[in-house]
Amino acid sequence: MKDGIYQAIILRTQELGESDLLVSFITPEWGRKKAIAKGAKKSKKRFVNALASFYHVNIEIMNPKKGKLPLVSSARLINSYRGLTQEYKRVCIASFIIELTETLFPIGAGDKRIFNLLRESLNSLSKDDNYHLIPIVFEIKAMAIGGFRINIDECSICKRIYTGKGRAIFRADRGGIVCMGCDKESQNKPGMEPETVKLLKMIYDFPFNQAKELRLSKSAYDELIEVIKAHRDYRLELPIRTWKYLE
Ligand SMILES: [Zn+2]
Repeated sequence: MKDGIYQAIILRTQELGESDLLVSFITPEWGRKKAIAKGAKKSKKRFVNALASFYHVNIEIMNPKKGKLPLVSSARLINSYRGLTQEYKRVCIASFIIELTETLFPIGAGDKRIFNLLRESLNSLSKDDNYHLIPIVFEIKAMAIGGFRINIDECSICKRIYTGKGRAIFRADRGGIVCMGCDKESQNKPGMEPETVKLLKMIYDFPFNQAKELRLSKSAYDELIEVIKAHRDYRLELPIRTWKYLE
């Protein structure tokens, strides 16, 4: 990435020696990146407590010699999403969101869409009273941005258009639904009622702030959880460890 000041969301920081921090972050322009903040643990002036997980900041980047990691020369806080750290459950959801982002987008990958989705999700998570849909909406949208959108338009085997009638079966290996004529439900091929397929479509189509307000029945919620779990387990190389704190 070029020298300059960029908006960023800090995903993680890690201590490097006595005074430096290794900072992992995501920007709209350059995707996910890592840089070293020299003296960050000592210089409060240049970083004014702006380098911590989940923070939305303006980060100043300077490139040293080729082949070396960029340096963070200063950082200014835009939003710390303070409400987020006031409750254990919210921290768990934020940690899940960060881990999923890191797994889906290796260094250099990612764009404006995932940056905005992260920003909106963390912001909602820091203020909304009702936040239980945030991790699900985030995951469905983040997976789609990462190239894993579930095909719900047609049966992935016989190609018959799904008209919104009858149960659909999710096949992780096909990344889409199949009809009851082509397969049958089992533990790793979870089924969905038409209502659930419709909700999944709305989550894809609606902007984040609208999607997180959707009302899901208990059964639609449970079906959706099974589908996104099967999809994630199949598509991602690493299991998402923080998910267990959400269940
Ligand atoms: Zn079929």
